[in-house]
Amino acid sequence: MTERLYYDDARLTSFTANVTQIEEVSRAGGQSMWRVALDRSAFYPHSGGQPNDRGTLTASSRSGAALIAPIEDVQEDDSGEVWHYTLKPLVPGTEVRGEIDRARRLDHMQQHSGQHLLSAALFAVAQAPTVSFHLGENLSTIDLAVEQLSRQTLEQAEDFANAVIAEDRPMSTYRTSREQAEAWLAAGQMRKLPPRSGDLRIVEIAGDPHPLDRNACGGTHVASTGAIGGLHVRGLEKVRQGWRVEFVCGQRAVRTARQDYAALCELSRTLSEPFERLSERLRSMQSDAKQSAKMIDSLTGELATYRAGQMVQSAPVENGRLLVRQRFAAHEQGVAKQLAAKISGHQKAAALFACDGDDAQPATILLAANADLAIDCGAMLREAVTAAGGRGGGSKTMAQGSVPMAALEETLQNLKRAVVEMTSNA
Ligand SMILES: [Zn+2]
Repeated sequence: MTERLYYDDARLTSFTANVTQIEEVSRAGGQSMWRVALDRSAFYPHSGGQPNDRGTLTASSRSGAALIAPIEDVQEDDSGEVWHYTLKPLVPGTEVRGEIDRARRLDHMQQHSGQHLLSAALFAVAQAPTVSFHLGENLSTIDLAVEQLSRQTLEQAEDFANAVIAEDRPMSTYRTSREQAEAWLAAGQMRKLPPRSGDLRIVEIAGDPHPLDRNACGGTHVASTGAIGGLHVRGLEKVRQGWRVEFVCGQRAVRTARQDYAALCELSRTLSEPFERLSERLRSMQSDAKQSAKMIDSLTGELATYRAGQMVQSAPVENGRLLVRQRFAAHEQGVAKQLAAKISGHQKAAALFACDGDDAQPATILLAANADLAIDCGAMLREAVTAAGGRGGGSKTMAQGSVPMAALEETLQNLKRAVVEMTSNA
C-alpha cells in the first residue's frame, strides 16, 4: 500500500519514490493510458470532496536521459493503493522523482481549509451543521441542514471566518484513537465521526479553551488559518435538504472579485453610469422598454386598421362583395392575421391570405369574412386544406390552415372559387 506523504506534510510537492506496479487501463487510437503505483507518494488522489493533484513523474536513465510522465489523474482504490494515471509507461523498480503542481495544490489546500473554517463559523453564528461539501474547479459549496439561512447570517459567518484568518490560528493534523474521538463526540467537541473503525486523522483549528473546529479528515490543509488568505461567500441557494452556500478562498477570491469588477466596469462604460447608479438605470431602462412595447403594439394596431381600410377600398367589387387577396412572407404571419381580422370587420368584405412556407415548413392560409357574407370560413377552409393534404379549421368568421408549398396555389384557387360561389348564391 502506498505511503501517503501528504498526511505528514501537505507542503511537500517534490519527492522520490519507486515504481511498484503498472497496469494498462485503456487504449484508444494507438494510445495507451497506464496507471502507476509507487511505494510512497505526495500526490493527493481524488477523494473526500477534494480534487486530485496533477504534476509529473520523472525517471532518469544511467546515461542521464529523462523520461517525463505527466500525471493526468490520481485515484485511490478500495485497498488504499494510490494510482497515478499517465500516457507514458514506467518500468516497475524504477526510481522516479515526483513533482506536484504547487499552485493547484495550494489552491485546494486553501479551499479545503476554508471549508472547515466556514463550516465552523456557520455553526458558531447560526448553529447550522454542514452535511456535505464539494470543492469545484471554480466555486466550492457546503450544504447545511437548516430550515432558514439569511444573507445577513451568512455575512456574519463570513466576518467571523475572516477574523479567524486574520488571527492566524494554528491548523494542526494528528492521529488519535477511535475511543478518544468518541469521547470528544459525546462531549460535543466534535460534531460527527466517519463509520470506519481504527485510528482517525484529526484536523483541528485552534481555539480557547476548546478547539474552534475538530474534524476527522484525510485531505490536505494549510498549517495556520492565515494561509487560507481570505474567504468570500458568494451564492446562497435553497436545496432539498436545507441551504447551499458557495464560497471562494485565497487567490480564487481575488480572481473572482477581479472578474466581477471587470464585468461592472464594462457595464458602467456601456451605460455611462457610475457603479452605484447602475441598478437604478437598468430599472428605468426596463420600464422604458415596457412602455415602448406597449406603444409599438398600439401603433401596429392602428397601422393595421389603416392598411386594412386601404386594401378593402382597392379590392374589386363583385356582386356587392369585396375579396381581398394577398401573399405574405413566412415571417409576416402575425401581421397577416391582424390584417385579416381587420378586413373581416368591414361590411361585405372577406380576406384570403397566404403566408409562404419553405422546404421544412408548410404554407399558411388564412380565411376571414364578415358575418354578413354568411360564409362558414372554418368549414370551407378545412375542406380545402384537407383535400390538399393539409389541416386547419376555425370559426365561421376566421380560419387558419396549412398546406404543403406545392399545393398552395391550387388550394388558394379552390378557396377563391368557393367564396365567390357562396357569396353569389347569397
Ligand atoms: Zn479536511
